[in-house]
Amino acid sequence: MSVFATRFDLAVVGAGILGLATALAGARRGLRVIVIDRDARCQGASVRNFGFVTVSGQERYTMWPRARRSRAVWQEVAAAAGIPIVHTGVWLTARLPESVALLEAFLASDMAEGCRMLSPAEARRRCPWLAAPALLAVLESTTELRVEPYEAIPRIADWLARAHGVSFLRSTAVQGIEAPRVRTSRGTVQAECVVVCPGDDFVALYPDRLQTFALTRCKLQMLRLADPGFRIPATLMSDLGLARYHGFSELAGGALLKARLAEERPEQVRYGVHLIVAQSADGSLVVGDSHDYGESPDPFSREQVDALILDEFRAALGIEAPPTIGRWIGTYASSPDRAVLIDAPDAAVRIAIVTSGAGASTGFAIGEELIEGLFGSREAA
Ligand SMILES: Cc1cc2nc3c(=O)[nH]c(=O)nc-3n(C[C@H](O)[C@H](O)[C@H](O)COP(=O)(O)OP(=O)(O)OC[C@H]3O[C@@H](n4cnc5c(N)ncnc54)[C@H](O)[C@@H]3O)c2cc1C
Repeated sequence: MSVFATRFDLAVVGAGILGLATALAGARRGLRVIVIDRDARCQGASVRNFGFVTVSGQERYTMWPRARRSRAVWQEVAAAAGIPIVHTGVWLTARLPESVALLEAFLASDMAEGCRMLSPAEARRRCPWLAAPALLAVLESTTELRVEPYEAIPRIADWLARAHGVSFLRSTAVQGIEAPRVRTSRGTVQAECVVVCPGDDFVALYPDRLQTFALTRCKLQMLRLADPGFRIPATLMSDLGLARYHGFSELAGGALLKARLAEERPEQVRYGVHLIVAQSADGSLVVGDSHDYGESPDPFSREQVDALILDEFRAALGIEAPPTIGRWIGTYASSPDRAVLIDAPDAAVRIAIVTSGAGASTGFAIGEELIEGLFGSREAA
């Protein structure tokens, strides 16, 4: 039967990770679900990111619990949908004493499950290529997962369609919502409830409401480097990342680290550069990133910013960076005062936007929250 002749329980606008996560939570509740996206294949932040499901370092009260839940769902989904987990864990490398103090404070907190400190000697025994002379310590966290997002997102969509009967309407823009009517560029879809997961599009739907939240976009530069000829044991990060992840930077000592970085690495701080190094199955490295905020950041990569990312690569690993074989940029939604925006323009509609660059890590939990909010908790059902 045509999707235009079907009455759905739930329509989801957006086939990025948040839309797919919401569709999954709805389908698991037995709802009849349709996902509508204007692109033929996901092009947004969800396929431009590291595919890095970060748990350690997420903000303590709202994002860390969501990341823990999402990680568990990622494991189930990856197994069911045939998505390889390319990496587990993260190594947070510290070259500054302020970073070591912060890592110790983290280890003493209740967020440190699955984490331990490695001495430089122990780290080098497991990863001889970690040659940075200034290395003081490594915090190893075993809870992270990494998938290849450009492959994983379509696989989740295919699996939702195949195993959960979710309908997809692609190459179709949603132009207006008056539940139970969803007006699209191809006709009207009928759905009791609607969840809008538009990523960083704040103008197509509910522009007046979204304007009140003062949202902006954050642009990130990303690089792919050639296979260095060795395998890294986990995704790698450095001191600069400790200052950006609230689960670390909000601990005692976070301000000291930020002050030292501002003094010693002003250019990297200015361009929001921090280091994430992840390895793909073919050995190549996904390396980033930078943070440039604005209503419409320009679409260009700056050589100077790539150079700052590569400087940090050299300093953190103590080796020359392999040749750059790819470059891209991505954007995500950003808010001055919240990590996730959930708004209810009416009783049957929710708008959901991850406004902190952590949608791959927290999306599955947010999807479950949205379905609970619209259809009631399982216990009550
Ligand atoms: C370079 C980069 C690196 C990142 N690294 C990480 C990371 O390592 N870990 C992590 O957790 N997060 C990371 N993030 C953040 C993460 O990618 C985002 O938080 C997440 O992908 C947002 O997912 P989404 O589904 O909300 O949005 P998107 O992926 O942008 O999807 C939104 C979808 O909505 C569709 N859409 C919008 N409006 C309409 C409309 N009116 N009609 C039809 N369709 C519409 C769009 O076509 C799009 O497909 C990174 C982001 C970037 C850019």
